[in-house]
Amino acid sequence: MHAFSYARPTSAAEAVEMFSRAGEGARFIAGGTTLYDLMKLDIEQPRHLIDVAAIQQLDGIDTAGDVLRFQALARMSAVATDEVVLRDYPVLAESLSKAASQQLRNMATIGGNLLQRTRCLYFRNGANGFYPCNRREPGSGCGAMGGLDRGQAVLGTSGFCTAVSPGDLPVALVALDARVDVIGRTGMRTMPIEDLYRLPGATPHLEFNLAPGEMITAIVVPKTAAGRASTYHKIRDRESYAFALASAAVALEMRGGRVERARIALGGVATRPWRAAAAEAELAGKTLTPELALKAGRAAFAEAVPGHHNAFKIELGARTVADAITIAASRSI
Ligand SMILES: Cc1cc2nc3c(=O)[nH]c(=O)nc-3n(C[C@H](O)[C@H](O)[C@H](O)COP(=O)(O)OP(=O)(O)OC[C@H]3O[C@@H](n4cnc5c(N)ncnc54)[C@H](O)[C@@H]3O)c2cc1C
Repeated sequence: MHAFSYARPTSAAEAVEMFSRAGEGARFIAGGTTLYDLMKLDIEQPRHLIDVAAIQQLDGIDTAGDVLRFQALARMSAVATDEVVLRDYPVLAESLSKAASQQLRNMATIGGNLLQRTRCLYFRNGANGFYPCNRREPGSGCGAMGGLDRGQAVLGTSGFCTAVSPGDLPVALVALDARVDVIGRTGMRTMPIEDLYRLPGATPHLEFNLAPGEMITAIVVPKTAAGRASTYHKIRDRESYAFALASAAVALEMRGGRVERARIALGGVATRPWRAAAAEAELAGKTLTPELALKAGRAAFAEAVPGHHNAFKIELGARTVADAITIAASRSI
C-alpha cells in the first residue's frame, strides 16, 4: 500500500475544489468497496483520496416527481428496497439485489457502482508485471488473448481488450434510458447513461467519459409504464455473490399479447453495458411467442465475436434474453 492523503468534504462543490487542488493522483472514494480492493491489489495507487461519503446533499432517493432521482451516494441496498422501485421498476430492484452481497450493498453507493472497474482476471491479478493488461498498463498487451478467456466479452471487443463491463445496475439503467448528472470545475452537465461508457478500442485504459475531477451527483430515470413489465435476469456460475456470465435487462410496453415497444440491454457479455437494438426491433409490433423471444435473443448476438473458451456465451446470452422477455411479459397487466 502506498501513502496517500485523505480529505472529507461536506459539499459537492468543496469535493470538486479539493480534487482540483490535490492535482495528479487524486481520486474520489464513496463506499470504498471497489477502490480499496484495487489499492490493496496494487492496481490503483491514488495519492489523494477525496472521500465524498459525508456529503449529505448527495444522499437520497426521490421517486415522487416526474422522474426517479437517485443521488449518487444512495446505497445499493436502499435503492433495491425502495417500495416504488420494487413495485414499479423490478428491473432496477433486481439488478441491485442480484449484485454482490447484502453487506456490500449496505456499504456501496450507486455512483461508485457505475464506475467500478472490470473483474477481468488479467486486469486484477496482474499488478507488478505478472500479466500484461492494456487496461491496467497501456501498451503492455492483453493476457486474455491467447490465454483463458472464458469470462471475456463477445461484444464490443477490440484487438487491445476483451474485458467485460462488470456492473449489473448500469445494464438496467441503459434499458430504461437513464441519465447521469455530473459536476466538475466547469459546472454541471447531464448525459445519457450509455455515453458514460467507452468502448475499449485502442485505449482501453480510458473507460469512462468523465473529465478528471468530474463527480457523479445523481442518476435520473424517466418514469415509464414499461417499468412494471420488466426484469433483470442474471446467469452466473453460482446463484449468489457472483458476477454475470450473461444477463439481460428487459422492459416491455405490451398491448394484449403484442409488444408495442421493447427496451433490452445486456450484461456479462460486452465491454460496456450493451443496448440490444436489434433484439428490440425484432419484437416491436409483433405478438410475443417463445419462438419470437428466442429470435430476438439471437438477434442480440448477431455481431458477437467469440474467443477460444467463451463461445458458449453467445447461446447462453441469447437464451438469457429470451427468458428475460418471457418473464417481463408475464408481469404486464
Ligand atoms: C466481492 C464483491 C462482489 C461484487 N459483486 C458485484 C456484482 O455481482 N454486481 C455488481 O454490479 N457489482 C458487484 N460488486 C461491485 C460493487 O457493486 C461495487 O464495488 C460498488 O458498487 C462500488 O461502490 P462504492 O461506493 O463502494 O465505490 P468506491 O469503491 O468508493 O468507488 C468506485 C469507483 O468510483 C469512483 N467514484 C465513487 N463515487 C463517485 C462519484 N460520486 N463520482 C465520481 N467517481 C466516484 C471512485 O473514484 C472509484 O474509482 C462486487 C464487489 C465485491 C467486492
